[in-house]
Amino acid sequence: MANVFIGLGSNIGDRKKNIAEAINLLSNSPDVKLEKTSSLYITEPIGYVGQDWFLNSVVEITTSLSPRDLLYQCQAIEEQMGRVRTMQWGPRIIDLDIILYGDEVIEDDELIIPHPNMHKRRFVLLPLVEIAPDVLHPKLNKTASELLQVLKDGHKVEVYTD
Ligand code: ADP
Ligand code: MG
Repeated sequence: MANVFIGLGSNIGDRKKNIAEAINLLSNSPDVKLEKTSSLYITEPIGYVGQDWFLNSVVEITTSLSPRDLLYQCQAIEEQMGRVRTMQWGPRIIDLDIILYGDEVIEDDELIIPHPNMHKRRFVLLPLVEIAPDVLHPKLNKTASELLQVLKDGHKVEVYTD
């Protein structure tokens, strides 16, 4: 069993419902056990600014799935949810990224773990620190809290309350 962190994001439709649905679909898998769920965070988009703000969350799971099979599972959930609601080239209704998979380091065409941007993004580090401040980035050899302390990302990220 591997200890894994998955980042979720949505900026179209009922963002809160989309994230809840994705977490549900993920934890419905017999190979996945949901351990912890962060608060929802409302976050300023990075890059293309002509789009709505995101809701983001990070979950901790334990899973018997290999990194690759977990990626396929995440993509299947994106597809399953996207096929219903998303427009072509529109903002994404759901995004699931594997942030950390135990202490594994993987770098191939399909999969990069730890996620290549996790240590640069406040919308990943804030929810990660909320649920696992001491989890270690196996390449940078720093904890999530340490990464957050030296982070320079100036994009706004706040706990979401509705
Ligand atoms: P992004 O998340 O960067 O906005 P996508 O969700 O469209 O982009 O994913 C693009 C590709 O990123 C996927 O086809 C997948 O193969 C690849 N990828 C590489 N590493 C990861 C990871 N750790 N988690 C999720 N996808 C990843
Ligand atoms: Mg993605």
